[in-house]
Amino acid sequence: MQRKIKIIPAKRIEGIRLRKDLPIDAPAIHETAQGMIEYLKKIKGLGLAACQIGIPERWFVAKIDNQYIICIYPAYKPIASGKTKMWRETCLSYPNEAYNVRRYQKIFATWETPDGDNITECANMFGNQDAIIFQHETDHCNGKTIKMIGQRVRK
Ligand SMILES: [Zn+2]
Repeated sequence: MQRKIKIIPAKRIEGIRLRKDLPIDAPAIHETAQGMIEYLKKIKGLGLAACQIGIPERWFVAKIDNQYIICIYPAYKPIASGKTKMWRETCLSYPNEAYNVRRYQKIFATWETPDGDNITECANMFGNQDAIIFQHETDHCNGKTIKMIGQRVRK
């Protein structure tokens, strides 16, 4: 049975501290992530972090390079001398709001992925929108939201 996706109130994820040392339960993540991906497809969403639906773990699903992927323990650092740009972003945790957020234009991203019972480590370089999505979702895993780091603009 797939879990019903319910976004929890934003207050509960603002500043949340998620552990970095939990063992990864790959089959459980796979199953929950499938439900999250179906949900994103239905609402044409680009990303959703586990903490946004009340799972206190550091992973997310996102549409990167036109496909939905599961990123566990995500991290990023800037490339291209750290050039930044202001982006207008929305978030499923703030359904009626939009924020301008300063983001790195290009990043080096790392994460782990559940592959059956195996976890493999991947590294990739992203540009533009994929980089923004990855930063937005990774920030969720670090307790940071667009409301905390951006300026509100009209949706
Ligand atoms: Zn968000």
